[in-house]
Amino acid sequence: MYYFDNAATTPVRSEAVQAAVEAMERDWGNPSSRCTKGEQAAARLKGWREDVAGALGCQAQELAFTSCGTESNNWAIRGAAELARRKGRHIITDALEHAAVLEPCRELERQGYEVTRLQPDRGGNLSLEAFRKALRPDTVLVSVMLVNNELGTVNPVDQFSAAVRQAGCPALVHCDAVQGFLKLPFTPQGLGVDLLSVSGHKVHAPKGIGALYIRRGLKLPPLLLGGGQEEGRRSGTEATAQIAAFAAAVRAGRQTLDRDLDHMAQLKAYAIARLALVPGLKPLTQGGAPHILPVTMPGYQSEVLVRFLADRDICLSSGSACHKGRPSHVFAALNLPKPERDGVLRISFSPENTPAEVDALADGLKAAHAQLFPSMS
Ligand code: PLP
Repeated sequence: MYYFDNAATTPVRSEAVQAAVEAMERDWGNPSSRCTKGEQAAARLKGWREDVAGALGCQAQELAFTSCGTESNNWAIRGAAELARRKGRHIITDALEHAAVLEPCRELERQGYEVTRLQPDRGGNLSLEAFRKALRPDTVLVSVMLVNNELGTVNPVDQFSAAVRQAGCPALVHCDAVQGFLKLPFTPQGLGVDLLSVSGHKVHAPKGIGALYIRRGLKLPPLLLGGGQEEGRRSGTEATAQIAAFAAAVRAGRQTLDRDLDHMAQLKAYAIARLALVPGLKPLTQGGAPHILPVTMPGYQSEVLVRFLADRDICLSSGSACHKGRPSHVFAALNLPKPERDGVLRISFSPENTPAEVDALADGLKAAHAQLFPSMS
């Protein structure tokens, strides 16, 4: 199997599997219980939180575990809006965000908030100038992702945060860093954000675990009410096995981070060179994060290409996995000509991919061109 769908999800690394099993077999106590088993689990939880916070470059108290990136985004956006309700009702985001940001913003719009959605240029880049112009004295929330999940483009979130401070508006800044975590060097403080979302299954941990960075001192209202876990911020007994696995994946990922990022950047450059030999194929973006390469084969249907490649044991995506066959709002926002939009493929790498696998992908796409093209003309 040649797996190039790492932006959808990553294989769970063995360290994470082992840590989850240990947490279930040994540290299965409830961290809120006062008994020995509970105290043991609470001590382990403290360590796991420090591991993930350490990788993010924040303090452990600034990190709350959630069930996924989607929950982190929902919590950040709904919580920030509620917190600042009296200060204003204007939100700025952009047209390329993940649905887990766009949908809570749409819900707030239904409740009477005004949402400005910045439009990208054809390369998927947002304009700082347009952002500055959109800022208003009643802007209470800005939500801009670090790395786009379909394009791999990197937003200058630090500059956006600085513009918010310069404008003197009360906005809290949230960043969906689900695709940036352990793919780019950053810290929430360096980005100047108040809230930042990450997800375990994009960094070789299992699905069902995420985290939200909440800047120290910020009293974000909870999304889930109940027993008051996570310092009263997120109720629900902590998913210790998933958290243990997340921490283990992050610890292991950190150890080889520089080498892994280098490897993926080289692989992406190699893929661009190899895929340039596939007739008609062109990359859709320049530069960007090392793990995401969007390309298009105009005149082809991406779903047909994905199925053709699947028969050769090659796994990639026609766009974000969350779209499930529906046209992607990201490529629609780029205003690509229809044939280019129809032929989009997202290739996404992990450190485990090799140049030989890229060769197999290039051969697969050449074969697709040879075998599918006659039926389309
Ligand atoms: N944000 C981005 C940029 C993503 O790519 C994803 C998942 O694809 C999410 C949020 C949602 O994360 P999760 O699958 O953990 O809910």
